[in-house]
Amino acid sequence: MHDLRCIECNAIYSGDEVIYTCMECGGLLDVIYDYDEISLTREKLSKEALSVWKYRELLPIRRAPVTLQEGGTQLYRLTRLAEDLSAEEVYVKHEGMNPTGSFKDRGMTVGVTKAIELGMSTVACASTGNTSASLAIYAAKAGMPAVVLLPAGKVALGKVAQALMHGAKVLTIRGNFDEALRLVRDLCTKEDFYLLNSINPYRLEGQKTIAFEIAEQLQWNVPDRIVLPVGNAGNITAIYKGFKELKRLGLTETVPKMTGVQAEGASPIARAVREREERIDPETKPETIATAIRIGNPVNARKALKAIYESNGTAETVTDEEIIRAQKDLAQLEGIGVEPASASSIAGLRKLLQNQEIDPSEQIVCITTGHLLKDSEEILKICPRPIEINATIEDVRRVIFTKRPN
Ligand SMILES: *Cc1c(COP(=O)(O)O)cnc(C)c1O
Ligand SMILES: [Zn+2]
Repeated sequence: MHDLRCIECNAIYSGDEVIYTCMECGGLLDVIYDYDEISLTREKLSKEALSVWKYRELLPIRRAPVTLQEGGTQLYRLTRLAEDLSAEEVYVKHEGMNPTGSFKDRGMTVGVTKAIELGMSTVACASTGNTSASLAIYAAKAGMPAVVLLPAGKVALGKVAQALMHGAKVLTIRGNFDEALRLVRDLCTKEDFYLLNSINPYRLEGQKTIAFEIAEQLQWNVPDRIVLPVGNAGNITAIYKGFKELKRLGLTETVPKMTGVQAEGASPIARAVREREERIDPETKPETIATAIRIGNPVNARKALKAIYESNGTAETVTDEEIIRAQKDLAQLEGIGVEPASASSIAGLRKLLQNQEIDPSEQIVCITTGHLLKDSEEILKICPRPIEINATIEDVRRVIFTKRPN
């Protein structure tokens, strides 16, 4: 069984309640388990292929899951790009390989299952895109209506296409993500819809399986550092919780330094870390090419700052140019196609290595959060167009031997 505990005042709530934040103080909630009752061994785990539901004993669900076989994503060791970064051992956990092409699926398979367990009949979220795509597929699979609120004009086309195709009710609001979230929270209270943004602690439970998979893929070695993009700061929180649980269960011995990367135009967490603050100062006009992390008021900031400080990690900001360069590096040096937000992990790593804030001998895992095809419009803006020619061998030869940038 599990309960919910407020991270600020330690108030405890039953797992059967529909509740997102503490009723006493408004603080964020964590899912807690009786860890003494959980007996997981490396040997037992080695018998099953990687997936989110492989770790069901550490998930807050009793019923049959609504699943499309999420998780089990590739962990690639970088070669050419690692050399270019002058780093010894860098891996990429490519979360773009999930059913909808982002890590959000790990959270949503658990979140939508929980909605059913709690007897809710409609699910809803605000989204920069990927959350809506993910909610749409699990709602479709469960036969449940889904409502999603997107910031008008600021969502990558592939993500909107997914939400539409899978049958969600898609609303675009004149406002940014933070405003969409405020609206959907109000809507969920008034209409009794189940809120599946990352303020919902059950979503983070699904996402923590990223940590479990990394540990297993590295033969139960915990890497020195995890580097990942930070928007609402749910994922950095979730992955840290996952590593802490492994340690608590005696499966591993350390936790990695949690390192968050934000876009320069949307960097409240990185600014707070620079000043060693416990709270963020929200931004009202976040802006970046990496729309998935275009967030000015991250809901999980308090949890994320704890994760960063406790693990002795850090945070960094990167410019849109640095993000684009990292996206091309991953694509062209390693064959890994990711959307802009995801590339910020590599861009941040490059910067931290250059500034000697990271030791190049560390074992590092970067999380690439979403797939390249999510945002093909951005690609067309940053890559040269295909060259149209006449159907003659002379034209073909002329063009392929003319040097042009990638
Ligand atoms: C949601 C998302 C993020 C940000 O994750 P948070 O948990 O909000 O910090 C980063 N990259 C991609 C591709 C995403 O979809
Ligand atoms: Zn509280």
